[in-house]
Amino acid sequence: MKNEIIEDCGFSVNVHRLHTLVIGSGAAGLNTAIQLKRNGIEDIAIITEGLNCGTSINTGSDKQTYYKLSLCGREEDSPRKLAESLFSSGGMNGDTALAEAAVSARAFLNLVNLGVKFPQDSFGQFPGYKTDHDPRQRATSTGPYTSRDMCLALIKEIKLLNITVHEKRVAVSLLVREKTVYGAIVFNIEGEGAFEIYLASNVILATGGPGGLYSDSVYPEIHTGAIGLALLEGAAAHNLQESQFGLASIKFRWNVSGTYMQVLPRFISTEADGVSGPREFLADYIKDAGHLNTLIFLKGYQWPFDAQKVESGSSIIDILVYIETKIKKRRVFLDYRRDSVALDFSLLGDEARSYLEKSDALVPCPLERLRKMNPQAIDLYLEHGINLEKEPLEIAVCAQHNNGGLAVNGWWESTNIKHLFAAGETAGTHGVCRPGGSALNSGQVAGFRIAEFIAARYHESVECGPPREALEKLRIFSGYLNKSGRDWKKVRSEFQERMSENAAHLRRKENLESAASEAFTQYKKVVAEGQSFANAAEAAEALRNIQLCFAHYVYLEGIRHSLLSGTGSRGSALVLDEKGTQIHESLGAEWRFVPENPELREMLLETEFEETSGDILNRWIKRREIPDEDLWFEKAWSAFLKKDIYGIT
Ligand SMILES: Cc1cc2nc3c(=O)[nH]c(=O)nc-3n(C[C@H](O)[C@H](O)[C@H](O)COP(=O)(O)OP(=O)(O)OC[C@H]3O[C@@H](n4cnc5c(N)ncnc54)[C@H](O)[C@@H]3O)c2cc1C
Repeated sequence: MKNEIIEDCGFSVNVHRLHTLVIGSGAAGLNTAIQLKRNGIEDIAIITEGLNCGTSINTGSDKQTYYKLSLCGREEDSPRKLAESLFSSGGMNGDTALAEAAVSARAFLNLVNLGVKFPQDSFGQFPGYKTDHDPRQRATSTGPYTSRDMCLALIKEIKLLNITVHEKRVAVSLLVREKTVYGAIVFNIEGEGAFEIYLASNVILATGGPGGLYSDSVYPEIHTGAIGLALLEGAAAHNLQESQFGLASIKFRWNVSGTYMQVLPRFISTEADGVSGPREFLADYIKDAGHLNTLIFLKGYQWPFDAQKVESGSSIIDILVYIETKIKKRRVFLDYRRDSVALDFSLLGDEARSYLEKSDALVPCPLERLRKMNPQAIDLYLEHGINLEKEPLEIAVCAQHNNGGLAVNGWWESTNIKHLFAAGETAGTHGVCRPGGSALNSGQVAGFRIAEFIAARYHESVECGPPREALEKLRIFSGYLNKSGRDWKKVRSEFQERMSENAAHLRRKENLESAASEAFTQYKKVVAEGQSFANAAEAAEALRNIQLCFAHYVYLEGIRHSLLSGTGSRGSALVLDEKGTQIHESLGAEWRFVPENPELREMLLETEFEETSGDILNRWIKRREIPDEDLWFEKAWSAFLKKDIYGIT
């Protein structure tokens, strides 16, 4: 990396020139940098808010899942079969599905070789379990912190490989000319804060999912995401409307999946003070206690809210929690200290009863059952200042993952901005639903694909010339900091609340119309009036709000378009309409939903900002099928040697 200082209108700007810039140091960004280096791309750097930031290193769940090609026992698996499982979720491209399947074993074994302790048997097989949307037993885990374990191993390797990492950096804009990326403008929050310019032949955006867009969120609090940087430059996105939502604790953000539900906690709601008027509200709607407790048990492994499980399935629980918190404005808690009044093990469904029986957990009190089945689950909350013995756990329905993201080809390059790649949750490779754990697989695979493609096709550096346009853009961003409009925190909570109210698991056409228009108005205002902030770290947050606020507008437009097109209820989103189908006999007429139009599973929604018109364009495109490659060895060998394989996009 070459560095120079350019004096410009009283500014001293640090300009860094390098071959490939990776933005973000989550599991995806770290592995991409490692694979670039292993493929001979030496002149690289990662810029990041911090090696301890992002979702991967700060999150987990009861048993955080990594999904991969099956590598154990008699069960047959193959790249094609795994690709079909991924593809069958609908709305996913076949080439990325095949690549995610084909590179899966390599990506997984790379982690094993770096020291991630995925369980193996005495012969070196990696036993798996079945996760949601998984026809086999492809899932594995290192425990609650799989993605953190991955990051720690990857960071060690980054250090061994001597890869440059610039921390405390917030990318505030991408540099794009003639639909080709050539770098980024970055705010360095060290000291008093300063802008920097990174000029690079290739940029990998690995900034994670859009955690900062929702007020009800189980993304780590410090994680906001930065897909808006690319959306502002007109990068096409796929499936922005497909996200995952589910029940999570909110004081310490954590999915209450797995054993947290299987031990059948008591669901209570209280008035706003968190104490008065406690009641077991679920029984108001579901009178049959055996059925109710079976649904709670099932929530354990049917964690994401699922539009297909509302009528008679476990996702009705998420709706009832939503009604209590958002409509009745009460607070909902899981109480592990005593059993619900109506709990009777003999009334449970067979699956639930036999599971508890086999776990020696047919004992009174949820906490005792949790102690038998998963004592670490209690410790985990203790480590974060919550004692389940003494206090109930507050929960809400929260945003957890975006299946969509930037539109990429089979090598994870943006479909309309050259030399820009997206890895991890920033890439929109998943469809309507996805097998649990496939997000982590996808992020690792992306690193291999991107690095090989850059080494084969983009090995030469592109000369960027004097950074005239970059400096012009930098002046615009520094201009934002000279204005002082509303407090940046208020700006952020406004769009976060708008998203949680309109673009989460419950959606209404009429609300989305007004939400999208309010979003646009807010974005215009933020840019025109600026924001107020106290110091360099807050200045970075104000700058970040620009891309986040724009992203929320684009997401709302995408979601609105998908509803208007008649996708109906699918994945983790239920479309409500009074003319629809009644959700549950105990709910009023406003609780009717639009059934899914399954034909749209063959399509992807492409969303793009067109700078000249200022419009957000939405169109449905036919998804790419799983390629049927000619795998005759001699032919494949020749295509490989001639590098023809890098022509497939
Ligand atoms: C509670 C929870 C449980 C989950 N469980 C599972 C699971 O069991 N299995 C599974 O497969 N997936 C799971 N996921 C999803 C999965 O964890 C994420 O999709 C994945 O970790 C994202 O990795 P990433 O590398 O793309 O992004 P991240 O890990 O979020 O990293 C993003 C990086 O970008 C940096 N960054 C962001 N913006 C900027 C900017 N403007 N400038 C500079 N740097 C920036 C951040 O600091 C960070 O370093 C879960 C998610 C959550 C929230």
